[in-house]
Amino acid sequence: MSSILTIIPLQSARLEAPCISAEIISVIEEVKSEGKKSLIFYSRRGNARAWICADCGHYEKCPHCDIAFAYHTTPEKCLICHHCSQIAPFPIICPHCHGNKVNPVWVGIQQIEDRLSKLVSTNTKILRIDSDTKEKSGVLYNTIKTSDIIITTQIGGSIVHPDIGAVIWLSFELNLSIPSYHIEEDIYHEISYYKKQGLPLYIQTYTPDHPLLREIMDGNTRSFLSYLSRERIEFRYPPFAELATIRIHDEQKKKVEDIMSKLINKISIIKLPSTFLAFDTNIWEKYGGEWQQKIVLKDKSLSYVLRDLEVEIVRNRSVTLEWS
Ligand SMILES: [Zn+2]
Ligand SMILES: [Zn+2]
Repeated sequence: MSSILTIIPLQSARLEAPCISAEIISVIEEVKSEGKKSLIFYSRRGNARAWICADCGHYEKCPHCDIAFAYHTTPEKCLICHHCSQIAPFPIICPHCHGNKVNPVWVGIQQIEDRLSKLVSTNTKILRIDSDTKEKSGVLYNTIKTSDIIITTQIGGSIVHPDIGAVIWLSFELNLSIPSYHIEEDIYHEISYYKKQGLPLYIQTYTPDHPLLREIMDGNTRSFLSYLSRERIEFRYPPFAELATIRIHDEQKKKVEDIMSKLINKISIIKLPSTFLAFDTNIWEKYGGEWQQKIVLKDKSLSYVLRDLEVEIVRNRSVTLEWS
């Protein structure tokens, strides 16, 4: 069974509320009149706030990593790559459409739920599934049974129910802007999963010509993999390159600073000219009471650098390595 995939271009859509078009409301009503449910995806992951132009859907990507910059207000209003810590200035106008609606005013899932409840017919039951409600997954199946609309933030295609009549993605850009190098792969698999079930699918987007959307429409896995490979080769990501993130963490800021400068000096001496090295000693993160900084390395092979760092990595509990 093949499903019908409808792309709704947000530029020309009649918006009843941010990210909610009149077309989506009528889809929801129709699905409900058939005694079925609408499953709605609206991605928000962690605290990473995307910077997306409200006029054209453009978002800025890190030139080294090809992932979306996240918007930060401290130490000042700027864009930061969560992968390599590259900082870019906050755009005053959109570099793509020159519009000025550039403040990241993406609404949260609760607001989407709230707006939706006012736009659909009364007695429509809405179920929201996000990090706050996730724990109760045991009772989820029964709650889905009595709901007309299910809104979720999660990615992964794990919500299945025989009564689902349509699957809706409110913002394709919001999905894409999640700062992860395998986000396109995740989106492709999620949409393909529902496509295989023969459900009518609706994707709202500012970029209806996005190459990933074309790959999803075609549904040719081989062609998608070669699309993915081109990107991974260009930006040197696994499996075409090795990627190592070295995290330095301790309760004492000073200790982190000392280890950082020691490691950076050492890496700078042993690394090859082709090795991509990124760090920013001004960016601090705090996890479980520990201060943290990171060093990102990318190259065709990293074993020669990591071998020389073995002593620091194995012996020091403040140094953790993630290698892919
Ligand atoms: Zn980056
Ligand atoms: Zn724009």
